[in-house]
Amino acid sequence: MRWLRPFAVTALCASLAACATSPTGRSQLLLLSDAELNQMGQQAFAQYQQDVPMGDQASLRYVQCITDAIVDVLPERQRNQDWQVRVFKSDQPNAFALPGGYMGVNTGMLDIATNQDQLASVIGHEIGHVLANHANERASTQNATSLGLSVISSASGMQSPGGQQLMGVLGMGAQYGIALPFSRRHESEADTIGQNLMAQAGFDPRESVTLWQNMQAASTGGAPPAWMSTHPSQDQRIDGLQAGMDQAMATYEQARGQGRTPNCPRP
Ligand SMILES: [Zn+2]
Repeated sequence: MRWLRPFAVTALCASLAACATSPTGRSQLLLLSDAELNQMGQQAFAQYQQDVPMGDQASLRYVQCITDAIVDVLPERQRNQDWQVRVFKSDQPNAFALPGGYMGVNTGMLDIATNQDQLASVIGHEIGHVLANHANERASTQNATSLGLSVISSASGMQSPGGQQLMGVLGMGAQYGIALPFSRRHESEADTIGQNLMAQAGFDPRESVTLWQNMQAASTGGAPPAWMSTHPSQDQRIDGLQAGMDQAMATYEQARGQGRTPNCPRP
């Protein structure tokens, strides 16, 4: 909604209990409860598993190993969540993390993220969206307040227009042909959080830049990767990652010194 500019959010936040502060210090309007968000995540995850076949076990072990290392450095509440990881057999380079602790990576992403550190930057970024409550914020600001609630209360599920929109709000729309791009603000915030998470877990944060260069290279050949339709603005993204690199490198060196040296063999 156009009227929900930052100043409007601030004004609303002065009068509503539904306000929060994101991990990077932004005021946010969050109208849905954690329980509602987790239920949306669960529904979307179940739907995705119905629609896309499972990948191979070796790829799952690889993704699980990286996810475990990152989950280990999350704030306590999210660390104690039961994270479920799945690999899906699809050439579309796509990945998502959902409220409630649901993580999915398509095998196509493993061709673009060519080592554990690059894949850690994808997973860290996606978990960054969850930590910063971006799905809740999107649902709260896109005239979708009724959407979340109606989807949850209706039995019609994901095939309904509400269900499709739900996938979009959760950043999974690309698979369903209804890409609802994350805003630049959400993207850079997820990048910042993800870069910090991967460094804390002992993954080389410099590889986050290489990952995006690989994404760009993959998009010049033909149709751009599905993930890019929901994750726009590559150039500013690389600039933002570079701007945070000194701090991320210091965090990384410290983590390595403390014995965080993840070793997830790529299948
Ligand atoms: Zn993103």
